[in-house]
Amino acid sequence: MEASSQDSLQLGTLQAQKQDDANTTVYMDFMKNHCCYDAIPTSCKLVIFDTKLQVQKAFFALVANSLRAAPLWDSKLKRFVGMLTITDFINIVHCYYKSPLVQMYELENHKIETWRDVYLKSSRPFLISISPEASLFEAIYRLLKHKIHRLPVIEPSSGNVLHILTHKRILKFLHIFGATVPKPTFARRPIVESGIGTFKDVATVCQTATLYDALDIFVDRRVSALPVVDEKGKVVALYSRFDVINLAAQKTYNDLDVTLLEALRKRSCSAEGVIKCYADETLETVIERIVAAEVHRLVLVDRADVVKGIVSLSDLLQAMVLTPAGIETLL
Ligand code: ADP
Ligand code: ADP
Ligand code: AMP
Repeated sequence: MEASSQDSLQLGTLQAQKQDDANTTVYMDFMKNHCCYDAIPTSCKLVIFDTKLQVQKAFFALVANSLRAAPLWDSKLKRFVGMLTITDFINIVHCYYKSPLVQMYELENHKIETWRDVYLKSSRPFLISISPEASLFEAIYRLLKHKIHRLPVIEPSSGNVLHILTHKRILKFLHIFGATVPKPTFARRPIVESGIGTFKDVATVCQTATLYDALDIFVDRRVSALPVVDEKGKVVALYSRFDVINLAAQKTYNDLDVTLLEALRKRSCSAEGVIKCYADETLETVIERIVAAEVHRLVLVDRADVVKGIVSLSDLLQAMVLTPAGIETLL
């Protein structure tokens, strides 16, 4: 090959490489250039609980309003002090459950503040929030750094909660409004090749295990969902933290000795089957599927449906937004 054509070939490769590098940050730039206010809906339902409310009433109120979480207001301190989420319901039920024959008086009688006195000894005693003017990049950073799934957007001047941001809302915003940004090369690469997801020590639960066993794993491993598997390790269902609220909706939290199979049968609403993905599927395909199904994660399986990993919204936001900013994994 002549020197000049070799040079132009090298130049071409260099330009493509540069283009590639520039494209790597498009999702990060998009999140840095949009603020939380841009991603919140024009109207939404918001429920706030006083810390003097009984925990049982609070969870019934979440169910009645089809909500997943509520900010907590301390009327003595006159400020928000934390959140109440389904994880808190799981922790309370897991802490006080003895057997189907023993009433769970603590759940029925404790006020939120009483529970927080017990629980906060090992957890955060303050509310993590964000201003509507802050960037979505900062919102993602806070969600992942603190390993939380609910980030209240609070207007600094009034102290009012405007919305509760989630990974789902942020990714959907990017998917709709960021559709015109040029896709980075890694969007067309297989997810496993880019290392997006968890592929080791995946927490699963056997379909014949009890509900209490599942709660035990939630508390111990702090994962957001468990693929439910048969004796061959094939995924047959998905049991997420959100599904535990059914115990409050159906007032069945006093019997956690039932098998997951039975509990899943009684689940009032759920996605159609298990929403899965395969190792050779691209990030682009995974985003399309996860946004369309409105779920927090896909279960990575092999061709025999055996669980191989989890690809969660946290993994996607880490890889698409934080890693390009030089922030190594917070997960
Ligand atoms: P879930 O996935 O059940 O909705 P999270 O993972 O967000 O809940 O909650 C984990 C724990 O962190 C819970 O005890 C919850 O009360 C607490 N928590 C969640 N969001 C916040 C927040 N913004 N500030 C302080 N604590 C929070
Ligand atoms: P959240 O919106 O609180 O993050 P999830 O996405 O975890 O909630 O769960 C919402 C509902 O979708 C639950 O009933 C859960 O079982 C179901 N679900 C979540 N992920 C999957 C999945 N990959 N396959 C099937 N169902 C799922
Ligand atoms: P999430 O809580 O789903 O936002 O995810 C936080 C991290 O936990 C991500 O890296 C997920 O891949 C991982 N993760 C979620 N569910 C599981 C699970 N069942 N087993 C192992 N890791 C999980």
